[in-house]
Amino acid sequence: MAETRTPLVAGNWKMNGLSTEAVGLAAAVAEAVGTVPCDLVVCPPAVHLALVADALEGSGVGLGGQDCHDKPSGAHTGDISAAMLADIGCGYAIVGHSERRTDHRENDALVQAKAAAAHGAGLVAIICIGETEAQRDSGETLAVVQSQIQGSVPPSADADNTVIAYEPVWAIGTGRTPTPEEVQEVHASIRDGLGDVLGAGVAAGTRLLYGGSVKPANAEELLGLADVDGALVGGASLKADDFLAIAAHSG
Ligand code: PEP
Repeated sequence: MAETRTPLVAGNWKMNGLSTEAVGLAAAVAEAVGTVPCDLVVCPPAVHLALVADALEGSGVGLGGQDCHDKPSGAHTGDISAAMLADIGCGYAIVGHSERRTDHRENDALVQAKAAAAHGAGLVAIICIGETEAQRDSGETLAVVQSQIQGSVPPSADADNTVIAYEPVWAIGTGRTPTPEEVQEVHASIRDGLGDVLGAGVAAGTRLLYGGSVKPANAEELLGLADVDGALVGGASLKADDFLAIAAHSG
């Protein structure tokens, strides 16, 4: 990865853990942050954000929401605004995760609006994109990610407020990953596509994370790729030792 892009390893805890586990995990990550060569972010379930913010205080580990609404406030039962995330101590919001795109029928236009809302609240948007298995099998991967870049990245995006996470849907939670060559090919294509949307300078400075079954055992080969600037980690982020072992390979 380029020297100008500080690597980032983010943990997406999804809908896992009660409050005691969340605080324990956050404390373990906070304690070890100085031992890894990258920025660290954890994204707990929304109900644990305040407790985790306390556990991380002063550590330098970033805090992120797993989603935000595209509107600043209003009659949206069960939803959380980007400003609420910022208010409770978040610096990041994941938007467009494939589980949101599938479970909540989120499309590129909504993801783009959510990313813009995150930017408006001063958050870094971690915008997730990635192809399904059927799309990969039919050779559409690069076309799909290009279309998602064009549809999901808002004009407010820049290299400081945006991170792109390439997460092949078929690799999430399955133990399967693309080959390193395939990951590098997609990441290089994403950087090109970002250049078309935001300009080459912004694209060169924007961090591109790989996500999908990243484990300590495959982190070195995946995180060492030229256009991979870190990882978005699901299952393995629930064990501090595994999360930190992945992060150790990000430098
Ligand atoms: C994710 O959900 O963002 C993810 C990458 O999950 P996993 O690491 O478990 O594949």
